[in-house]
Amino acid sequence: MPTIFTKIINGDIPGDFVYRDDLVVAFRDINPQARVHILIVPIKEIRNIQEVTAEDEAILGRMLHVARIVAEQESIAESGYRLLINNGADAHQEVFHLHMHLLGGEALGPLLAKR
Ligand code: 5GP
Repeated sequence: MPTIFTKIINGDIPGDFVYRDDLVVAFRDINPQARVHILIVPIKEIRNIQEVTAEDEAILGRMLHVARIVAEQESIAESGYRLLINNGADAHQEVFHLHMHLLGGEALGPLLAKR
C-alpha cells in the first residue's frame, strides 16, 4: 500500500507543492502549525529514521539542502525557522513515510511544549 505522501507525490491526491527534484519533494502541511509549515519528503518510501541505510545518505543530505532552498523561497531564511522530524510513537509520528517539518514565519517559542 502506498503511503499518503506517496499518493500526494504521485498526484493521486492533491498537494500544494513548493519544490520537487529527483530525490525530494516539499509541499504545504494540510494542518499548519505555523504561518509557514512545509513538509520535506523523500520520494523513496522510508518509514522513519530507524529505517535509513547508508544508501539513503544522499537523500538525507538533500532534505537539508532543500530546507535551505525552500526557506529562501518562503522569505524566512533571515528570520529563522525550525526543522523537525518526529520519529516513532513517543514523538507522535503520524505518517510513516519519513518527512521533515519546516516551520517558521513567526516566533515559534521554546523547542518542546508538552500538551
Ligand atoms: P508527523 O506527526 O507524522 O510528523 O506529521 C505528519 C504531518 O502530515 C502532520 O503535520 C499532518 O498535518 C500532515 N498531513 C497528514 N495528512 C496530510 C495530507 O493529506 N496532506 C498534507 N499536505 N499534509 C498531511
